Amino acid sequence: MSVSPICPRCGERLVVRPGSTAQAWCHTHGAVTPLHYTTLLAHDAIAAVTTDARVPAWVPDPMAAGWSVTGLAWGGEPSARAIVVDCAGPAPLGGAAELVLVAEEPGMGVGCGYAGLPGPDPGDVISGPSFADVKAAGQHAPLWAVPTDDGRAAFVGEAYGVWLWLVMWPASAAWLLAEQLELLDLRDRLYPDLPLGPPSEHLLPGR
Ligand SMILES: [Zn+2]
Repeated sequence: MSVSPICPRCGERLVVRPGSTAQAWCHTHGAVTPLHYTTLLAHDAIAAVTTDARVPAWVPDPMAAGWSVTGLAWGGEPSARAIVVDCAGPAPLGGAAELVLVAEEPGMGVGCGYAGLPGPDPGDVISGPSFADVKAAGQHAPLWAVPTDDGRAAFVGEAYGVWLWLVMWPASAAWLLAEQLELLDLRDRLYPDLPLGPPSEHLLPGR
């Protein structure tokens, strides 16, 4: 179901650290927590990752018309300490949009990998007034805009004591935050008609 694990920060294939028996190693980022991923989604495959996860698996609730979950990535074993849910659907002004939702413990670098930031954590972007807020499992979670390239929009905040990232393509997909977005933790309720879709472009970080 999952192919070779990748670096959570750049998406490159990992090797085993020279001289070590098990340490996953990125040629650019050194020792990292391997990120596993799958595009062959089924509800029981999602449940297998989320059931004992230490962090939420966020999806918009309700999903906008035409939107679906298109991929899943996770890091940390045996219980996931980072979960990425990739969603895609039509943009209101035409074309397609993609939304990657990340929950991760600090220091893993997953959200930064999708947002195009160099460090493992967002650093001092969380200061001053927030850009927007979402409701995560019923709790207000302020989000701050993260500086990134022209092709995407990225936001970070905190929910359940871990980072909450929303990264969107194209940049204009930030319209998703114009109205209050509500997020559901799939650990709480993985409903049987959660729409699943074909793979989309940005499931892997660093792209
Ligand atoms: Zn790397």
